[in-house]
Amino acid sequence: MRATQLFETGDIRTVDVPVPTPASGEILIKVEAAGICGTDRHLYRGDFPSVPGKTLGHEFSGLVVDGGDTGIAEGTRVTCDPNTWCGTCDQCQRGRVNLCSNNIATGIHRDGGFAEFCAFPASKAVVLPSDLDPLHGAFCEPLACTLHGMDMGATRPGERVLIIGGGVIGLMAVQIAKLAGGEVMLLTRSSEKQALGKRTGADHAVGTEADLRNLWPNGADLVVECAGVASTVAIAPKLARTGGRVVILGVLPQGEQVEVEPFDLLFREIQMHFSFLNPFTHARAAQMVSDGTISVDPLISRTISLDDAAEAIASPPLKGEVRAIVVPSG
Ligand code: NAP
Repeated sequence: MRATQLFETGDIRTVDVPVPTPASGEILIKVEAAGICGTDRHLYRGDFPSVPGKTLGHEFSGLVVDGGDTGIAEGTRVTCDPNTWCGTCDQCQRGRVNLCSNNIATGIHRDGGFAEFCAFPASKAVVLPSDLDPLHGAFCEPLACTLHGMDMGATRPGERVLIIGGGVIGLMAVQIAKLAGGEVMLLTRSSEKQALGKRTGADHAVGTEADLRNLWPNGADLVVECAGVASTVAIAPKLARTGGRVVILGVLPQGEQVEVEPFDLLFREIQMHFSFLNPFTHARAAQMVSDGTISVDPLISRTISLDDAAEAIASPPLKGEVRAIVVPSG
């Protein structure tokens, strides 16, 4: 089968590999859709530690073609929660499973979804409806991460919620904040993503801090940073109103520093939260994608084949692109 593997920083290729054999407790999935995430590009550039020679792809779904000893029927459509925590370490024992020191992330530590087939732990698979658009299953994982951050932010009805960054995470955060009753503004530079933000529920979409201040001079009750760049992490607390909250979902390269002003944060009692991965949110995400509570179709910018996946990961997203989906059988 074909699989897109990261051999070392800057060396990603689609190659022929054997179809994996599911171990006990695993299922074999024919991958239908796998999203290219910013994290895949971070891994390619060496911003995050990676394991050489692994198939990337952690946002994927597909059909079970071999249920092994798990009892899951062939033909079942599943979405895969890529994080397999140990359950025994100090953090797992405290219920902080996303901080598990032994977490095995599919698509980083073990072979992931940019492949025709993937062997996957059945315990981390969530069943999707058989009539779901196969491309939509790839959005469960990013939605699960966004839900964790939005749970932390805990939007209250009527609050002003500012989402920074109009990528897939930001555009899902817009929708979640609207569902919670917020007045929502998206701050993102490209006009295409501002328009998409409005289409997916934002009350306002702006491209600059000045435009934001014109509408909300005192800032937002909740600011959710979903751009993953130093400048937006730095301005996020400044854009929160006095007494407001900030959730950082965006990931910066390891070692990158951001200036904060503790005096300002303290005198305005700004709460800062950092949201990591998807503890216990994958099944909720699968439900919200399945029943259409979260609209994912507008977030699909293009579909590409496995043979084009390596180049797409090695390159920046196309102008205005939200999510490129790899369709291995395409
Ligand atoms: P993405 O597609 O790169 O989207 C980020 C968006 O931010 C871009 O589309 C860009 O749109 C916007 N942006 C960039 N610079 C900006 C600026 N100076 N001001 C305003 N907007 C700016 O990424 P994504 O997939 O949505 O993911 C977002 C972040 O979340 C990434 O850092 C990713 O690694 C991270 N993430 C975190 C978790 C977690 O568990 N915490 C999980 C998944 C992803 P414009 O061109 O329109 O500005």
